[in-house]
Amino acid sequence: MSQAAAQASVPAYDEAWFAARAQAGVQGLKAYDPGHDLVALRRRFGEANLVELGSNENPYGPSPAARQAVLDSLQALHRYPDPLGADLKRALARTHGVDTSQILLGNGSHELLMLLGQVFAGPGDEVVFSRYGFAVFALATQAAGAQMRIVEALPREAAMPCGHDLDAIAAAVGPRTKLVYVANPNNPTGTWFGREALTAFLDKLPPHVIVVMDEAYAEMADAPDYESALNVLQRYANVAVTRTFSKAYGLAGLRVGYLIARPGLVAVMERLRESFNVNGPALAACEAALGDGEHLADSCARNAEQRAALSAALAERGLRVFPSQTNFVLVEFGADTARIETALVARGVVLRPMGGYGLGDCLRITVGDADENRRLLAALDAVRA
Ligand SMILES: *Cc1c(COP(=O)(O)O)cnc(C)c1O
Repeated sequence: MSQAAAQASVPAYDEAWFAARAQAGVQGLKAYDPGHDLVALRRRFGEANLVELGSNENPYGPSPAARQAVLDSLQALHRYPDPLGADLKRALARTHGVDTSQILLGNGSHELLMLLGQVFAGPGDEVVFSRYGFAVFALATQAAGAQMRIVEALPREAAMPCGHDLDAIAAAVGPRTKLVYVANPNNPTGTWFGREALTAFLDKLPPHVIVVMDEAYAEMADAPDYESALNVLQRYANVAVTRTFSKAYGLAGLRVGYLIARPGLVAVMERLRESFNVNGPALAACEAALGDGEHLADSCARNAEQRAALSAALAERGLRVFPSQTNFVLVEFGADTARIETALVARGVVLRPMGGYGLGDCLRITVGDADENRRLLAALDAVRA
């Protein structure tokens, strides 16, 4: 063999080479975009000077009882956590009025959304979700090797701009559909739908599909017509609801989410769950957090107040703010979006660019506390001047 031929036969062992060896679903996959490198930005600006409004974290933090529970759990770090998470499940069952057999715990609800795809969909199957639906829906579908059926969202001009078009989603469900992912309220749009829309939608779906209702922001939704799917679980046996401790409970760092559904669905998912997927300090903290309803209510009330104030302040500046029932708002910045975003980062204000969602003229802004929102608005005025 000539030297050139020998060289040509040596694989590059680069991403393309390994991707060609991955299972078909992974070949077309793009990794989840977590936004800016916050560790680097904290180092550059110093934590006190950085306004972090890119990841929908809770500026008020967790219940003091959750912090204490983490400290108390430190003497048992050499032990495996309870593989069943039984104490946390009992606390969740009490909180939601369900049986512990209806609950599955996850390393964040992200893990549960992925697991749902893996368990219930595969090659040859379809998974239906909305354009501008939460990014993990596409990841979960492709990781499972299933086909994505992305349904056009409501138009920009609608009362719920870019929100889920439930009629179109229901119409897209076919004989090969195994799963439907719906987020209510949705990230990144902040939009939601009400009680009547929810039950009308569920009534339309054929009984063979499993409907995943991602309710990561449900605790923060205070619109009079908002209704959690947890309240209709009795009537709709094919619904699985996912919730998280990352947002309203202020425990994003511990990575705990949970799913509530029929015991049979939970039992099948248990077959694939890693036995110690939720760690000991996290289990203890979440149980304690559930016991502090006052902290949760206070946190949600402050968020609602700041969400209204921030939305009004942005609208006063001539910006279109999408309606939101979450702790973030999606805002149209038009042709100037990328420049504004870059200029804000240069001033230590981190928002979330939306190009990955096909909303490149918008930025997603987490609702901070009063001080963070004031600093954001000041920086915005400076870079837009
Ligand atoms: C933040 C978020 C989640 C997941 O959060 P975890 O931290 O993984 O529990 C799920 N769905 C939506 C819509 C979210 O915004």
